[in-house]
Amino acid sequence: MGRPVTGGVGAGRLLVGRCRLAFGGGPGSLRAMADPVIGIDLGTTYSAVGIVEAGFPILLADEEGERLMPSVAWFGPGVVKVGRAALREMAEGRLVRSAKRQMGVRFGEAPGACLPVVRASEGGMAFRTAEGEVTPVEVSRVLLSELKRIAEFRLEQEVRRAVITVPAYFNNAQREATKQAGEEAGLEVLRLVAEPTAAALAYGMDKLAERSRVAVFDLGGGTFDVSILELREGVFEVLATGGDTRLGGDDIDSVVLNLVARKAGLEGPALEMEGVDRDRLVREAERVKCELSREESAIFRAPFYDGSRSLEEQVERVELEGGMDSELATMRRICREVLVDAGMEVAGVEAVVMVGGSSRLPVVQRLAGEVFKQEPDCSQHPDEAVAIGAAIQAGILAGTWREVLLLDVTPLSLGVETLGGLMNVLIPRNTTIPCKVGEMFTNARDGQDSMQVRVLQGERELARDNWELGKFDLPFRSAPRGKARVGLQLSLDEDGILEVLARDVEGGGPDVIVKIESAAVDVSEEAVEQMVEE
Ligand code: ADP
Ligand code: MG
Repeated sequence: MGRPVTGGVGAGRLLVGRCRLAFGGGPGSLRAMADPVIGIDLGTTYSAVGIVEAGFPILLADEEGERLMPSVAWFGPGVVKVGRAALREMAEGRLVRSAKRQMGVRFGEAPGACLPVVRASEGGMAFRTAEGEVTPVEVSRVLLSELKRIAEFRLEQEVRRAVITVPAYFNNAQREATKQAGEEAGLEVLRLVAEPTAAALAYGMDKLAERSRVAVFDLGGGTFDVSILELREGVFEVLATGGDTRLGGDDIDSVVLNLVARKAGLEGPALEMEGVDRDRLVREAERVKCELSREESAIFRAPFYDGSRSLEEQVERVELEGGMDSELATMRRICREVLVDAGMEVAGVEAVVMVGGSSRLPVVQRLAGEVFKQEPDCSQHPDEAVAIGAAIQAGILAGTWREVLLLDVTPLSLGVETLGGLMNVLIPRNTTIPCKVGEMFTNARDGQDSMQVRVLQGERELARDNWELGKFDLPFRSAPRGKARVGLQLSLDEDGILEVLARDVEGGGPDVIVKIESAAVDVSEEAVEQMVEE
């Protein structure tokens, strides 16, 4: 085998997200679980674990009978608590929540975190807790360990393999970070599955006509995803997907809190002051928000929130809805873009499948209904559909759910720069992954003995108009112009992780293998969509 090049790869962003689902028959036959595979929805705010048992996907509940685990970890002196147990502790700079938002994100580019952050190794970030620094991968590792423990407790056997879902928009670095967390938790991660794909699997096709198109609308705690899938001759294909990795219920909690602060005559910073248990205020805001999904008004109560003063304010549902203008506008824009991307009119959408806890908000359901001009389908359990889909995918891989095939495709073309600064596409967009493509290149000058390989992603003709995922120098035996032979191979694995292999075919020498492990989130979703449109 070859040797890896170190330090050769710069910042970049690899996008994979589209997918195609192919279905065969229904649930498979009963089998003994020799080596079970669990399905995990590692959510920003809530996580869950499931498995296919006797041909049916089920979620596994913890000792308290809860199927949803808050995605929070509490780092105490010599002890780490997870989920509800973590929430029962005093936060005091020890509670980490929404760590998923920081997964694979570079320090400085990290969106607002729950705790102060510091720079960690490899350009990443870490949370500064009272017990020391903790990286997002470590937080995810403890969450996954706990889910593994719950599964082992319920199944009464060891669990070593898992499928984990990720938002469709997670880039290469974020996927790698998720996989790494799973492996550090002692799980072999067989597959990373896009969340809307999992939701589509949970929704199933038994509800659909032979040929139809559905939209999956997923508004969770921290991410928003919309995908349009087409079912044709037993095959589901994702025609388009879009979303925002920084939009979800957390933002709506902030809307509630700001509303309350304004009503109480408190400036924003008044709630940031020392002595204020901000975490408790956020939790109360979330409670009020959830109540407003059912009631027209709710009362926010935070006695002695700063040790001496108390808050008590009534909040109306209409006030909350009025404060969500910008979030709603973003959702509306993304839905429309996804429709355009799929080349569709709303009339062609047979069902709008609502998932994600925040899809319970009536205003969100109204918005989906208004954009897609139809009553949205709320038949799926909003919090559990993704985990159920993950369990189904796990069952497929374990062989307990047969004759179902799941294929992902790459949403943007991958290639390298060639003479004249042109983009040479090796893997065209919408290619089914895993895939492997190779091409031969030659030297442009006499006596040239190395070439720079720039790996690019994008749809534009000129290399510089596309995104650079990485670059490295490949040495080869000096030869007259056009005589050197350099083979380049790009391979994308099931998880959308890219590996580049380069070889001097004429001159021999070792292979150069570069794994694209980008650590940056430096491209906006809009930019990707715009490029695809062009
Ligand atoms: P994620 O996948 O991001 O972890 P979930 O799909 O589990 O998130 O959704 C969690 C979000 O749903 C949280 O922000 C939570 O407050 C919100 N949520 C749960 N129940 C309700 C409800 N009844 N009304 C409004 N929002 C809700
Ligand atoms: Mg989710």
